[in-house]
Amino acid sequence: MRTIVILGSTGSIGTQALEVVRQHPDRFKVVGLAAGAHRLELLAGQVREFMPPVVAVAEEQGAEDLAKRLGPVRGVDVIGGADGAERLARESEADIVLNAMVGAVGLAPSLAALQTGKLLALANKESLIVGGELIMDLVKGDPDRLIPVDSEHSALAQCLHGERRDDLRRVIVTASGGPFREWSRDELSKASVKEALAHPTWNMGPKITIDSATLMNKGLEVIEAHYLFDLDYKQIDVVLHPESIIHGIAEFKDGSMIAQMATPDMRLPIQLALGFPDRLPKGIGPLDLATLGRLTFRELNREAFPAVDLAYRAGRLGQTYPAALNASNEVAVHAFLGERIGFTAIAEVVAAVLDEHEPADVVSVVALDRADAWSRKRAGEIIDSLRVA
Ligand code: MG
Repeated sequence: MRTIVILGSTGSIGTQALEVVRQHPDRFKVVGLAAGAHRLELLAGQVREFMPPVVAVAEEQGAEDLAKRLGPVRGVDVIGGADGAERLARESEADIVLNAMVGAVGLAPSLAALQTGKLLALANKESLIVGGELIMDLVKGDPDRLIPVDSEHSALAQCLHGERRDDLRRVIVTASGGPFREWSRDELSKASVKEALAHPTWNMGPKITIDSATLMNKGLEVIEAHYLFDLDYKQIDVVLHPESIIHGIAEFKDGSMIAQMATPDMRLPIQLALGFPDRLPKGIGPLDLATLGRLTFRELNREAFPAVDLAYRAGRLGQTYPAALNASNEVAVHAFLGERIGFTAIAEVVAAVLDEHEPADVVSVVALDRADAWSRKRAGEIIDSLRVA
C-alpha cells in the first residue's frame, strides 16, 4: 500500500489522479489533499470519499467554509492558509506527493516533499522551470525520487529507461499544436478566449490550455526536459504531431529512435508515476493502430508561435530568466483570460519582460521570489500600457 498526498486535488490532474486511486484501492491510500478555495463542493466530496487525515485549503476563509460543509465528518483535520500545501508536503508521512498545482506557487511544496525524503510525482511544471537547479540538487544521486507526470517527460523517461546516456543524441518533444496550429500570425491576433480554450486532443485546466494554444507549454516543457534529463538545449527538439499519439522520442547516436505512444489520456502518466516502477493494469484502452491509420509530423511555425523560442532563449540564458519567463507568462495568460489583452500580446509581454530582466544566480528561493515578483509587476505595467495605447 502506497500512501499519497495530492496537491491540487480539484484540478484536472488532481481529479484524474483520484480516479486512478479509485480504480486501485488495494494499492493507494490518500493521506492528504490540498486545493484552492474555488471548488469547495468538489473538495468536500473528495474528503468524504477518500477520508484523508489532513486537508489543506489555500485560504483561511475557504478552510472554515470547508469545515462547515463537512459538518460531522470526523478524523479529518482541515488546515487553511497559503502555505497549507507546503505544510502537507513536508509534515505528512506520505510515501509520495503528487504535485498537480498550477503555477510557480508549486515550487515550495515540491522542495518540501524532496527535502523530507518523499517521492515526488511532478505535474507542476513550474517547479522545474523556476526552480530546476534547486529541485535537481535535491535528487542528485537518486533521480528516481522525481517522477515526471507531464506526458512528454513521462514518455521520454520511458524511452531512456535502461539506455546508456552516452549513446543519446537528442530527444524530441511532440506538440499537438493546439487549436490554432493552422492559423497565421494575423489571424492569431484576433483569437478569442473561447477559441483558445477549445483544445483538440487534451482536456486540461484553463492556464495550461492557453499555454498549449500559444505553444508556451511546449517551451516550458523544453526547459523541463533540460533539467530532468540533464540535456543541453541543442539536444532538445520540438516537432508538431497533431494526433498526440507519440508523446516523446529519444534518438541515439546510431540513428535509432525509440518513441512512446499511447492514447492521449493523462491517467496513464499519472498511474505510471503513482505506481512507479510498476505498470498497473486497468489503464486506458489500447490504441487501435489500424483504425488510427496514420500519424503525421511537421515543423513548428516558429514565427506564428514565438513562445517556443522565448523559452529556449530564457532556458539558455539560465539564472533567473526562466523564472521571469514563467511569471510574466502567468500574468499575461491571466490578462488574456480576463479579455484585457489579445492572444498575440501574451508572447509580446513575455518578450518585453525578458528584454528588461536583470538576472541573478539561483542560489536560493529568495532570488527566485525576487525575480518572480519583479516580472509580475513589470508584466502588469506593460499590460496596462498596452490597454491605454
Ligand atoms: Mg505536456
